[in-house]
Amino acid sequence: MPDTPQTLMVIGAHAGDAENMAAATVLKHTRAGHAAVILHMTLGEAGHPSLLPEVYAEQRKQEVAESARLMGARAIWLAYRDGELPMSDEVKLQVCDLIRQERPTTILTHWRGSCHKDHVATHEIVRDAIFYASLPALRRDQPAHRVCGVYFPENWEDMDGWRADLYLDVTDVWPDYLAVLRSHEFIRGGVSSFRYLEYYDALGTVRGCLSGFAKAAALMLQPGAWVRRLRHLPGLEPVGR
Ligand SMILES: [Zn+2]
Repeated sequence: MPDTPQTLMVIGAHAGDAENMAAATVLKHTRAGHAAVILHMTLGEAGHPSLLPEVYAEQRKQEVAESARLMGARAIWLAYRDGELPMSDEVKLQVCDLIRQERPTTILTHWRGSCHKDHVATHEIVRDAIFYASLPALRRDQPAHRVCGVYFPENWEDMDGWRADLYLDVTDVWPDYLAVLRSHEFIRGGVSSFRYLEYYDALGTVRGCLSGFAKAAALMLQPGAWVRRLRHLPGLEPVGR
């Protein structure tokens, strides 16, 4: 149990991704006294059926600010365009600098098995940014920072090779999670044909059924993170010691 508040950082490709896949997890930890920072790599401003991207971008800024307020978190967004997120060292160092500045204990981001190129790019950018942030020899304005845990939450667009390694009980924050989702027009319905609100509400129930909670969020661990070092198998430790 930490003595002082820690920081959870969620990094999503488009405004709304972090909320869909991690707002319940964020609420759970901000309610427990920790800080949370939400980094949106783009505002997800393309694809509105009637609004120009520059108009929709202004709406997206208000939506992420409202959802951050509801989560008790801080929102940051970068100036990259929806659909055109570059996978360059410049972007990786920009995220590295934000990690060194915010000093999160834990980062949640997209799994790489995604149908969306910006999600794949975000996964790769974050992976290298975490590595860059940890290197003392890489001199930046802020000192190096090592992130303790990296997890990949469930996202309907990132399911290729994803698996549920960890179930988190989010029953107590579920109504507030749905309120966060409703602060985005595309999740409420009318922008996309995908039924976001119904999907993520039902997903909490499905993951809850599988884990014995009323509502649960499922997360994937980093490949290799489940490896354990044991002297004997659990339950078969030497007799009488
Ligand atoms: Zn997205």
